[in-house]
Amino acid sequence: MKILVTGASGLVGSALINEYQLYSMYNPMDEWIFLSSKDGNLTKEDEVRSLFKKHQPNIVIHLAANVGGLFKNMHKKIEMYEDNLLMNTFVLKYARLHKVQKIITMLSTCIFPDGIEPLTEAKLHEGPPHPSNEGYAYAKRMMELHGRILEKDHGINCIQLIPTNIYGPYDNFNLDDAHVLPALIHRCYKAKQDQVPFIIKGSGKPIRQFIYNYDLAKIILYSVYESIPSGRYICSPPSQQEQTIEQVARKVASCMDYEQAIQFDTSYADGQYKKTVEPNIAFSHIPFTDFDEAIKQTVDWFIAAYENHTARI
Ligand code: NAP
Repeated sequence: MKILVTGASGLVGSALINEYQLYSMYNPMDEWIFLSSKDGNLTKEDEVRSLFKKHQPNIVIHLAANVGGLFKNMHKKIEMYEDNLLMNTFVLKYARLHKVQKIITMLSTCIFPDGIEPLTEAKLHEGPPHPSNEGYAYAKRMMELHGRILEKDHGINCIQLIPTNIYGPYDNFNLDDAHVLPALIHRCYKAKQDQVPFIIKGSGKPIRQFIYNYDLAKIILYSVYESIPSGRYICSPPSQQEQTIEQVARKVASCMDYEQAIQFDTSYADGQYKKTVEPNIAFSHIPFTDFDEAIKQTVDWFIAAYENHTARI
């Protein structure tokens, strides 16, 4: 079996690289191919064609994407739309032409219609996404359609995972385009270094769910090795584990012993207030890492990587 992973140098791909050989069904005869943008630019059809011709995969795990937090989504809409639409279209097209048996794709809870609760997999197209990330969201929604056509008309087992906010070691901690949790970690670290207030952008009131990248890697491995029907699967801890941004910021600051310095800057946008989801029961046997423990591991990883100059900042 040849398993091709796009976007393997990112947050999710790095966790997958650390986890795949530990999985109970791992078979050393399988060949895993981990790609990053250094192996080819997936927005270019010629390069995607060559990668598929070279590797001839049986299973594709498509992680690659142009990803970013609220501010990147708001300010680079055209890039988020075009890059993701092109990458997804070419990867799924060549997966079809090479007759792969299974494709695992990554959608996101942030591409759902704004203001609908509770969100379920079936409601993905029942209204426009939040305007702040509509470029990224519509590109992902088109991949969902593409995958659904591949499963219905071409018999490819297409498992479309819908994670909530992902975090963990190997995240993008660049303050210009990071997601909220890595941005909080980096900003708290810098604030403590400079002995200045730890500023939270926005009111701290929005509510979010978070999944640890190692837990998501286990879900992906289960999807590779087990027989799962085609479809869309929300991947998230249950709604009882929702956190406000303020709670997350306090946990981060407490890991760095800098909680007393928190201040809120309400001149910044809050984004979508709430987007509660419930996890799909297909993966309910996979335990979620305790949030406080996972935050601590991520903070410790960031501090070590920052000081070794290996963090993505
Ligand atoms: P990430 O850390 O930003 O990594 C992105 C990966 O995509 C990197 O390996 C990058 O390669 C590759 N890539 C980007 N542009 C490329 C291009 N033009 N050609 C080839 N490769 C390219 O992303 P992630 O957080 O692991 O996200 C993985 C998947 O989960 C994505 O599909 C994302 O949309 C989805 N998702 C993420 C979140 C989240 O909170 N992070 C939430 C829900 C869903 P280089 O390292 O070489 O640049």
